[in-house]
Amino acid sequence: MSLFENLSLEGEPVTKSSSSSPNSCGHRCVSYGVCMLCESTVDKSQGREFDFILPGLQLSHEAVASTKRLVTQFHCQKNNNKKLHLVLDLDHTLLHTAGVSCLSIEEKYLIEEARSKAREDLWSMEGDDSIDPYLLKLRPFLRKFLEEADKMFVMYVYTMGTREYAEALLEIIDPEGNYFRDRVITRDESPEEKTLDLVLAEERGVVIVDDTVGVWTHHWSNLVEITEYNYFRVDGQQEPKSYSEEKRDESENDGGLADVLKVLKHVHSEFFGVKEELLETQDVRFLLQEVDIQLLLN
Ligand SMILES: [Mg+2]
Ligand SMILES: [Zn+2]
Repeated sequence: MSLFENLSLEGEPVTKSSSSSPNSCGHRCVSYGVCMLCESTVDKSQGREFDFILPGLQLSHEAVASTKRLVTQFHCQKNNNKKLHLVLDLDHTLLHTAGVSCLSIEEKYLIEEARSKAREDLWSMEGDDSIDPYLLKLRPFLRKFLEEADKMFVMYVYTMGTREYAEALLEIIDPEGNYFRDRVITRDESPEEKTLDLVLAEERGVVIVDDTVGVWTHHWSNLVEITEYNYFRVDGQQEPKSYSEEKRDESENDGGLADVLKVLKHVHSEFFGVKEELLETQDVRFLLQEVDIQLLLN
């Protein structure tokens, strides 16, 4: 189900209605500054923009809150597909990219390996207006991680990169759009910091996986910090040598994504391991705290 389909869960038709008086209209759904119901001009301060779902779309704060509530309820209970929401960072979390011109001498062999498509985890990327050609390295275990996480979570990508960059990477990671569809948030929508305001689900049901925790100022309790994945030599790095220079890689079964998947499975099973009537009070933020304690005890 796409986010826009989710919006119609609210039960209010997103069509104009001549009978609704402008005074009573909450301007819940706005397209390019015009309310879809009463056709009034609506100020940006009266809602939040969701261009990544539909260009020009703005939802009122009330519509955002009720949609979040309904989406979480829907996935947790109504059709019982038992899915929480997962927000995934891209760079250093799921993959690593490096400009071709930035590669060290010992890494130059990768250019040919990527171009010849000899490997499934290394891709040669064209670049765009703002980025020069670069190499994309997928983190070990990525394909398996997405396949498994998709069974438990509705997934978002949330990156500080541009939309062009994110879409190029998603062509490789999720070519069919099976995992993320329109749930891709970029610097274009969210330039300053990352926020769950843009994720249409209740915060009690959202887990974030990111290697940079500082960008999530208001959502630390939703965070699972993943180890930073670097495959290529990082600017100015002296020692040790990079994975690429040593022609090795992070462990497939014991690396960052495999570890995080264990935490996600744990949180998911704890969340749904209660009676149906208690699901409404479940909160991943408390469950994540308990995971930390357990790790400390071990
Ligand atoms: Mg990152
Ligand atoms: Zn209106």
